[in-house]
Amino acid sequence: MSDYALSALGDLAPVESVATHDAPEPAELRRLFHEESLAARRVAARPGLYIAVVVYLLFAFADLLLVPDVAFYTISARLAVGVTALVTLETLLRFGARTEWLDATCAGAIILGYIGWLFPTATSSNQESVSYYMVFGTIFMMSANLFFTFQFRFSVVTSIIILSILYAVNYFMPSTVTYKLVFGAFYISCFVFTSYINWKLNRERYNVFLNAVDARSQHREATERGKALLKLSRTDPLTGLENRRAVDERLRDLWTAWQLQGSTFAVLLIDVDFFKRFNDHYGHQEGDRCLTLVADSVRRLAELRGVSIGRYGGEEFIVLAPLARLESVIGLAEEIRQTVEALEITHNERRDGTQVVTVSIGAAFTRDQAGTKLEKIIQEADRALYLAKANGRNCAHLFDPKDPQSSDESENIAALLKIAIDRELVSLVFQPILNVRSDKVEALEALMRLTMLDGTAVPPSLFIPVAERTGTIIELGRWAIKTACHELATNENIRTISVNVSPVQLKAPGFAASVAAALGEAGIAGNRMAFEITEGLEMEMHSDVLRCISDLKLLGIRIWLDDFGTGFAGLSWLRLIDFDMVKIDRSFLHDCVSPRGRAMFRDIVGLLRNRVPKILAEGVESEEQMDLLRKLEIDLAQGFHIGRPARAENLRSIFRTSRPRKVLGNPI
Ligand code: C2E
Ligand code: MG
Ligand code: MG
Repeated sequence: MSDYALSALGDLAPVESVATHDAPEPAELRRLFHEESLAARRVAARPGLYIAVVVYLLFAFADLLLVPDVAFYTISARLAVGVTALVTLETLLRFGARTEWLDATCAGAIILGYIGWLFPTATSSNQESVSYYMVFGTIFMMSANLFFTFQFRFSVVTSIIILSILYAVNYFMPSTVTYKLVFGAFYISCFVFTSYINWKLNRERYNVFLNAVDARSQHREATERGKALLKLSRTDPLTGLENRRAVDERLRDLWTAWQLQGSTFAVLLIDVDFFKRFNDHYGHQEGDRCLTLVADSVRRLAELRGVSIGRYGGEEFIVLAPLARLESVIGLAEEIRQTVEALEITHNERRDGTQVVTVSIGAAFTRDQAGTKLEKIIQEADRALYLAKANGRNCAHLFDPKDPQSSDESENIAALLKIAIDRELVSLVFQPILNVRSDKVEALEALMRLTMLDGTAVPPSLFIPVAERTGTIIELGRWAIKTACHELATNENIRTISVNVSPVQLKAPGFAASVAAALGEAGIAGNRMAFEITEGLEMEMHSDVLRCISDLKLLGIRIWLDDFGTGFAGLSWLRLIDFDMVKIDRSFLHDCVSPRGRAMFRDIVGLLRNRVPKILAEGVESEEQMDLLRKLEIDLAQGFHIGRPARAENLRSIFRTSRPRKVLGNPI
């Protein structure tokens, strides 16, 4: 039995376990029970009285059989009482009378019905029949106690009235003392038993009610707990935003609505700029605070705009916006960007001039395409985010299917890169680097080449960014270093090979160790290798990148700065890292056709001369340009005029000659 039921059998005081269910107090329970039984009685009153009246009227046949001399009176009384009772009840129901009045009507009907039958019957001349017929009087008592579900007190009072009337009639009836005693005792026992059963029934009803309350409360608690658990499983504990799981569900719903009804929507991926630096410098607690502040501000905006926001990863948030127009997507993205910037959370550790926390946003909008999948829109937003970061961060970028970096082609390239090494789709070509003073080839730059399965060449400008974005550059870079080591090992004449290394590789844990292993395996001294680092998209200079560079230097590897002048960070990098050489981007040499360009080139050379041991000019395409380099005393030169990138076998004897052009094989 439940705790409620147990307590109900006692003094109804709440037991401890009941209290844990957040149970109502006993008085409250009583009140609830009273209310419930009132409602039940109200419903039961009409059918109960109708059945009772019908049965009462049917007894007219018994009247005719047992007391025919007074049957007219008994039947008239039956009709009068029955009809009056029903009319009264219907009137009360119509006027919405209280349940107690309905009970009173039923009880009154029982008492009057009893009187209406008993008095005419008692005057019948057929005394023997009367003496038997009187037994039926107990039915009225039973109906008060057992048939109708009055309140206990009400039933007992009704029964006592019936009992008293019977005793009065019995007293005046001409019959033997024995009959009176037996009959009186029978009535008394009937009263006691039916009242006792009625009392027990009432207690049982109360117990049933308590059990029901208990079950309801447990059910409610279980439902609430279930709801809380469900909410928890869909909420990000730090920011209180929806988590990835909830976002995925929401996204699926939006996607389905788009597929079925054509309701367009946008996905906005929001990434906190330089968050790792923020965390490293200010600590994780501040990092959490920063994320919470950003989340709260974007949530407020999202609520205003009727869009949803969730946390999608560490420092990444996602906004799902059911918008109809592309312009609204751009507007929303810009609003989010400005909202975060306006928070003015100090971030002095970023090296791009901005001093506060900002976000980069990549957005994608639903667009009709055959065979599109749900993941596609996320991938597109992700690509847009990558480009937003590449554009210098703190900006929003909308996915553009026409952009080569965003196109499906780049998707194909990403897939191709995964199998490139195994399927031998990737190879290295080498371009000579000339010592301007000695006119001898001093090194080779290894350049990666990729071909499609059908043999078509994919330009590095296309596949290198994809490899960086997808991370395959780590595997490809490792392969390039191994291959370069192998080339150095098989050709003693090659003094140095420079390999292009992406900042993504430098950030990857264990990179320096893998280089050491490659050198060891090939039996190559580290100083025969140089790494060219471009101040490209991932221009952030993490402390782990700096550590990696100093580890590489310990291996003897020389570090060159590639494409100097094209990025934002060149000068600050020069401050941080001791480069062994700087390669000036070819655009500056090409601009030398104008006096202004020439002055610029000279200034760059002047700047670098005092900062780095050696300077290289890229993109030498003519003898005039060579002359300029000689005049400016530039150390090294590289370009089509000296030699195009070629297969290693075509460059075998290159180090023995002073002008490599003549010995080059087919350029690639
Ligand atoms: P980069 O490191 O600056 O490589 C030099 C690029 O300039 C090469 O383009 C080369 O073919 C081109 N070039 C050389 N001389 C001349 C010239 O006289 N005139 C002109 N117009 N171009 C010249 P390529 O091979 O298309 O490579 C493009 C870029 O791709 C490279 O620029 C480098 O940043 C990247 N890359 C190539 N191979 C790798 C690699 O193995 N790893 C990484 N991370 N990046 C690579
Ligand atoms: Mg290079
Ligand atoms: Mg370069």
